[in-house]
Amino acid sequence: MSSTPDSSGSDRPTIGFSTLAVHGGEDRQKYANAITDPIFCAATYTFENTQAAIDFVAKKLPREEYGRYGNPSEKVAERKLAALEGGEAALLYSTGMSALAGLFLAKLQAGDEIVMFDQCYHRTREFCQKHLAKFGVVTHLIPTCDYSAMEAAINPRTRLLLSESPTNPHLSVVDLEQFVALGKKYGVETVIDATLATPYNLRPLEYGVDYVVHSCTKYLSGHNDMLGGVIISTAEKIEPLRKFRGVIGMINGPHNIYLLLRGLKTFELRMRRHNENGQAVAEFLAGHPRVEKVLYPGLPSHPHHQIARKTMRGYGGLVTFYLKDADAQQTAAVVDAVRIPRIGPSLGGAESLIEQPIVMSYHDFTPEQRRAVGIADNMIRIACGIENPEDLVADLRQALER
Ligand SMILES: *Cc1c(COP(=O)(O)O)cnc(C)c1O
Repeated sequence: MSSTPDSSGSDRPTIGFSTLAVHGGEDRQKYANAITDPIFCAATYTFENTQAAIDFVAKKLPREEYGRYGNPSEKVAERKLAALEGGEAALLYSTGMSALAGLFLAKLQAGDEIVMFDQCYHRTREFCQKHLAKFGVVTHLIPTCDYSAMEAAINPRTRLLLSESPTNPHLSVVDLEQFVALGKKYGVETVIDATLATPYNLRPLEYGVDYVVHSCTKYLSGHNDMLGGVIISTAEKIEPLRKFRGVIGMINGPHNIYLLLRGLKTFELRMRRHNENGQAVAEFLAGHPRVEKVLYPGLPSHPHHQIARKTMRGYGGLVTFYLKDADAQQTAAVVDAVRIPRIGPSLGGAESLIEQPIVMSYHDFTPEQRRAVGIADNMIRIACGIENPEDLVADLRQALER
């Protein structure tokens, strides 16, 4: 086990976030005295003799057995992520979507129901409404942050309450006190996909949320070079999920785990810059005459600014804005005129990314379906990377003023 301080002990408030990001979950002295954790390219793990195999099973010894059940450096990454989130245990998956799917498939059976806010990642909605429905699981979509509508949808078959916070691309911020209170009142477990916030900006477990999910593809790994997902909760709640993952095999390859461990070292440094860039870009856009509206929780104009200020340390790198009197083509012209952000989906990496949601994520929606989920032709989403804020602002200025 780790001999490095983690966030679960009584000494927790004294350990800084970057100290945890650098050292959390790691053994102090590692294989071959290397400072980094090795990449274990092992599909299986061997036993010295038959008795050793018998002991492993009987005494539940903490060692590996077969690659689908775990990998030594994956355990390090899981301990580090649990420490950063302030949770007891973490479980890694091959993507954010497989973490969500793994959670739903492990927990739900025919007849069970999920109640979720509607501004969810479109693939999460699709998984629940289209795929879980095949197995008899019912999903209720509720207008985001309408807590009384959420309460009205809860019934004795409800098993999970689910939301993202902040949501993508509208950046709605959930009042976790109200959300958790609903779960506790009706004895229903709560899930927050906090990918856009990260444990640096938001601490859902401290509000009593049962499961925190992240796509590690985004800020946690931070370099647009790997995909991964994680669930953080109590050790007791993670255990059955780990067993299910061992059956279905939604696991990371060993090289991928190394990229995550490497990326996590600079997590706090990167988040500070993402927060700074998001705020600077949002403020610039809010003051520009060609911009109709900006969605960013760090702006006083955002409908959830007060709850964001109360619950978040910073507001991240994602900024959504609407161009004034612009159609889809005119909006595309602004996207095409920027020189620093690359055009593409995703967020949370070193490189800034820009996209028109109607082109990138909602191309297979009808205009009515887009309206229903609040996706407009004149909407642009920019995911600020870690470049210098002055450069991002100057670039957006030239693109808008062209
Ligand atoms: C990207 C994302 C996911 C899916 O994660 P993958 O790693 O791409 O599978 C889920 N939720 C949110 C909020 C995301 O941004």
